[in-house]
Amino acid sequence: MTTYPNLLAPLDLGFTTLRNRVLMGSMHTGLEDRARDLDKLAEYFAERARGGIGLMVTGGFAPNKTGSLYPLASKLSTRGEAGKHHVLTDAVHESGGKIALQLLHAGRYSYHPLSVSASSIKAPINPFRPRALSERGIRKQIADFGRAAGLAREAGYDGIEIMGSEGYFINQFLAPRTNKRTDSWGGTPEGRRRIAVEIVRAARAATGPDFIIIYRISLWDLVDGGQTWDEVLALAGEIEQAGATLLNTGIGWHEARVPTIVTSVPRAAFTGITAKLRPHIGIPIVTSNRINMPQTAEEVLARGDADLISMARPLLADPDWVRKAETERADEINTCIACNQACLDHTFSLKRATCMLNPRAAHETELRLLPTRRARHIAVVGAGPAGLSAAIGLAGRGHAVELFEAEESIGGQFAIAQRIPGKEEFGETIRYYRRQLELTGVKQHLGTPASAETLAAGGFDEIIVATGVTPRMPAIPGIGHPSVLSYVDVVKHGKPVGDRVAVIGAGGIGVDVSEFLTHAGSPSLDLRAWQAEWGVTDPELARGGVTEARPEPAPHQVYLLQRKETRIGKGLGKTTGWVHRAALKAKHVQQLTDVRYDKIDDAGLHISFGDKHERPQLLAVDTIVVCAGQESARGLAEELTALGADPHVIGGAELAAELDAKRAIDQGTRLAASL
Ligand code: NAP
Repeated sequence: MTTYPNLLAPLDLGFTTLRNRVLMGSMHTGLEDRARDLDKLAEYFAERARGGIGLMVTGGFAPNKTGSLYPLASKLSTRGEAGKHHVLTDAVHESGGKIALQLLHAGRYSYHPLSVSASSIKAPINPFRPRALSERGIRKQIADFGRAAGLAREAGYDGIEIMGSEGYFINQFLAPRTNKRTDSWGGTPEGRRRIAVEIVRAARAATGPDFIIIYRISLWDLVDGGQTWDEVLALAGEIEQAGATLLNTGIGWHEARVPTIVTSVPRAAFTGITAKLRPHIGIPIVTSNRINMPQTAEEVLARGDADLISMARPLLADPDWVRKAETERADEINTCIACNQACLDHTFSLKRATCMLNPRAAHETELRLLPTRRARHIAVVGAGPAGLSAAIGLAGRGHAVELFEAEESIGGQFAIAQRIPGKEEFGETIRYYRRQLELTGVKQHLGTPASAETLAAGGFDEIIVATGVTPRMPAIPGIGHPSVLSYVDVVKHGKPVGDRVAVIGAGGIGVDVSEFLTHAGSPSLDLRAWQAEWGVTDPELARGGVTEARPEPAPHQVYLLQRKETRIGKGLGKTTGWVHRAALKAKHVQQLTDVRYDKIDDAGLHISFGDKHERPQLLAVDTIVVCAGQESARGLAEELTALGADPHVIGGAELAAELDAKRAIDQGTRLAASL
């Protein structure tokens, strides 16, 4: 008996059987690009194969140079390249797993001047204009896909995935948005889908019948000029006929202005679309996007929305996700919170991807938490992300750890973040840490501010100070006025706020607070409200599945202010910042930059603008919420040093200026690995 009978059921593909319904979706880690990193990539996949995943898909490999994502990015077009992959495929097979190589032709998303596409139309997210392919050029791309598929088989892969979604090359042929051709590769829906079908045929011809071919189909383009539902249906049928084994799902082009994977997207928001397609096809279909826990996955499969679940980031966060589901330990899962901070934000900055919550991801051979040979007695002060990651890392290695936290509960800044609409997932991280503290036997002293004297006298071999930060209160005349609150008062303690609100400081927290104040409920918990906010509709009703957005009116009028002249939200995440900026715009948040704060009184907040701040203005607001950054809480560290102790100071206590959970968890984990 299992809680997840659908999720854990094997899937017989005729010539091979997948051990369960979990597919690890393709993620580019950056380790694909250089042959010398393939052993690191091998261990990354082997660890996940040991974790029980049914079928894994590599990051994208281009079938030729023109299709590569950027100069010298991963490709598979020669025998020499294929030979180097055995280290990876062998490691996966020895660990009991199965792996498919993704063939990704970027088309007009290629970040180099040699890019090609159906038509010469520049993508809004890429400065390079593609060249429109000739008939001969198209034939060559198809042949290159076929050859790469054959090479993948030679390299020991169990299959390939042909990337037909997300606005990449094949998708560019499928949609009238990007395919303006009048020859037999465009003009009509049949013409536009011809290349996709011929690529699948070529791949099947090159690999034989007993090889997994996944075709990733774009079911919801989420762009104007995307495909109609009829076109998608016809494509799916022809892809099946051409020899695909599985259909995987892609949602939204990279240039779409609808968020598809960030935290604020409701869980399993797009599985309705695979449910809509499933009755029309005879091969298994994989559903995708924002499925991160076994219960959610089980519900999706039990409803019949799909045959398999694809997860990418959740398996970065926890390689043992499947094992934990199999052994009824879902409460031990390190749940992906869809923050993108260390995975996609890294990829788009050409840095190696990892996971904010699991810094070992894609660093398996370099960051190990091995059992200690010399168990020590260690105090950790502060149960925010830095202290928690250090505590469980150390205790997991066999050290005797005592954790002191002044508050009655753990979480630190995450306890605040989980109250922001669209950030509820942060609560899962707190649950994960809570469970790991129990499992690793950390002795917890909650509601216990630790003093330097008790720590110094406590007989600890090491003391780790992770006391975090205190919110900064800027020295504005009138800052003590009763209309002034800190973000902690508002978000954590629920202090009442008037109709008109000024938010001082527009960093990550100022933006979060503005979203908190402009949402009555949480769209991420209400699929219909979320779809209305972002203009998402059934692709049967509108080409591409996009319509006019109809956000709920905001319950407060918010002014979001900063002193800098730069655009608000500039420092937010590369792949998430635009979502926050669009959400603020939709809620009519007034964004003011280059502001000087003159004073606060009964009339409101007095500010001025301009080079010499010659333009005074009164913002007649009822409440002023201060989100002006933080200062390190270092008092304890300094007292300990004065007493002759040598504490390790990590997280916000070490550096508040870049207060950042990614750095905090990384620091905590690395310190735990080193002691
Ligand atoms: P922050 O990013 O440092 O922003 C502080 C804001 O306060 C800035 O807009 C700054 O702008 C303003 N400020 C600084 N000193 C001020 C002063 N003396 N008087 C008035 N205004 C002042 O800090 P945060 O917003 O508190 O966020 C902290 C960290 O949490 C972030 O760095 C981020 O890592 C993390 N976080 C991230 C997210 C996310 O979405 N990824 C969300 C929340 C938090 P001016 O100096 O121009 O006025």
